[in-house]
Amino acid sequence: ADGAPRFRRILLKLSGEALMGSEPYGVDPARVESIARAVKGVADRGVQVAVVVGGGNIYRGLAGAARGMDRATGDYMGMLATVLNALALQDALEKIGADTRVQSAITISEVAEPYIRRRAIRHLEKGRIVIFAAGTGNPFFTTDTAAALRALEIHADALLMAKNAVEGVYTADPRSDPSAKLLTHITHQEALERRLAVMDATALSLCREEGVPIYVFNMDDERNIDRIVSGERVGTLVSS
Ligand code: UDP
Repeated sequence: ADGAPRFRRILLKLSGEALMGSEPYGVDPARVESIARAVKGVADRGVQVAVVVGGGNIYRGLAGAARGMDRATGDYMGMLATVLNALALQDALEKIGADTRVQSAITISEVAEPYIRRRAIRHLEKGRIVIFAAGTGNPFFTTDTAAALRALEIHADALLMAKNAVEGVYTADPRSDPSAKLLTHITHQEALERRLAVMDATALSLCREEGVPIYVFNMDDERNIDRIVSGERVGTLVSS
C-alpha cells in the first residue's frame, strides 16, 4: 500500500494455529512463508516489527494437565513449543532477506538470545524483526499475555492479534452461532465485561491499563497486516 505507515512500532501476535495452515499439527511451510512475506512487507515500509509466537499447534500445557501432568511442567513444554515456532518463522524470514533476531524468555543460548528489553529495542531501531519466544517465561500464563507484556515493554504503538478463519471480534462465536455479528470497534472495558474473544483477561487488562490499541484481524488474508498499518479499517479495533 501507499502512504506513510500509521505506526512506528507494532507487536504482532501469531498463535500456533496461524502457522499450522492446513496441516493437522505442527508447522505448514507454505503458510509460514506467506506470513513471513506479509511481515517483511510492513518492515520494508519502515515499521518496526516485533512478533510473539504461540505454541498451541504443538503443545498446550492445559492439555497435558488434563491428562494428569503437573500443570507447570506442561506449561514449560508449551513454552518450549513456541521456541520451535519462533525458529521456523525466523528461518522463513531470513530466506526472503529479512534481518531477524529471536529472543527467548527461557535461556537457550545456543539457539536464541535471551530476552533483554533494551537489546530488543535496539534491534528494532536497526530494522531487525524481533521474534519473542517462550512466552513470558512463566507457567500459568499465555502467549497472549506475553504479547501484551512485550508490547508494553517495547512501547509498541499497537498490538496486532492475528486470528484464523474469523474476521475479528464478534458478539458471539461465529463458528457456532450464525447470528453472531462482527464488531468493528469496542473498548477494552467492553471486551472484558462481555468476555469477548480478543485475548485472555490477563492480557486484556494489561492493555487496558496502558491504553494499548489492539487490532484483531483475520490472518488468512495476508494483506490485512499491511492494511492495518496503512490505517485501513480491518476487523475489530479495541481501544480506550
Ligand atoms: N505458556 C506458558 N507461559 C507463557 C506462555 C505460554 O506457560 O507465558 C505455555 C502454556 O502451556 C500454553 C503454551 O505455552 O498453553 C502455548 O502457548 P499458547 O497456548 O498461548 O499458544 P497459542 O494459543 O497462541 O498458539
